[in-house]
Amino acid sequence: MCRHLAYLGPAVTLEELLLRPRHSLLVQTWSPRDMRGGGTVNVDGVGAGWYEQGAPERFRSAVPMWTDTAFAGLARRQRASAVLAAVRSATVGMPVIETACAPFTDGTWLFSHNGVVAGWPDSLAKAAAELDVIDLMTLEAPTDSAVLWALLRQRLHAGQDPALAVCEVIDQVAAVRPDSRLNLLLTDGSTVYATTWSHALALRRTEDSVTVSSEPFGDDSDWEPVPDRHLVVADSSTVRVTPLPEGEHP
Ligand code: GLN
Repeated sequence: MCRHLAYLGPAVTLEELLLRPRHSLLVQTWSPRDMRGGGTVNVDGVGAGWYEQGAPERFRSAVPMWTDTAFAGLARRQRASAVLAAVRSATVGMPVIETACAPFTDGTWLFSHNGVVAGWPDSLAKAAAELDVIDLMTLEAPTDSAVLWALLRQRLHAGQDPALAVCEVIDQVAAVRPDSRLNLLLTDGSTVYATTWSHALALRRTEDSVTVSSEPFGDDSDWEPVPDRHLVVADSSTVRVTPLPEGEHP
């Protein structure tokens, strides 16, 4: 399964956040610790999104993070106080292409999915049929994650509260296939929304920052594991971790 993270806090370079720490996202590309049986490495692409004057900027590429010299160069220069980044392990049957890499974006949002929708594509057909036809025709990639993003984006466009929107998308998918893995990660640069559904996630808070990450990195001692089937809503000063609302699934 992919590895993803989001950071809110004092400005750091992407290199300081993603490449240099012990067990950084870069290391998690070839040596992740906690894939829970979903693949062994995360070499099918890299993506990072950050904010400049409130608007998201994004870099994506469908190669292993360590081979991408353009990313390494960018990471040295680019500073940001809100970042969402991911490395991808493509689910079997899904294409290895740049547009399948997180973060997906729209307006001020950045989004990532770590996991798999079990029974794809059949299991998502009913939900996808409710999507706007143009959204469906212009999906970035023929993957479960791109459809999840379309489902979530539709709710955000309709003005739904982001935390509720995230919970309802999980519920919609889990009602059909509770054996899916649905770690979603969403940010607008000020607040991070993250879920755990059958996959790992850890949380680190300091006085002025918050990080959620599939795997702890840097100094291990100050990370807390997020329990399964929970929602994290965090900004740089407040963090709420609550159980996902119970749906009609096991
Ligand atoms: N299923 C998604 C994809 O193939 C996410 C993969 C993952 O988390 N490993 O892009």
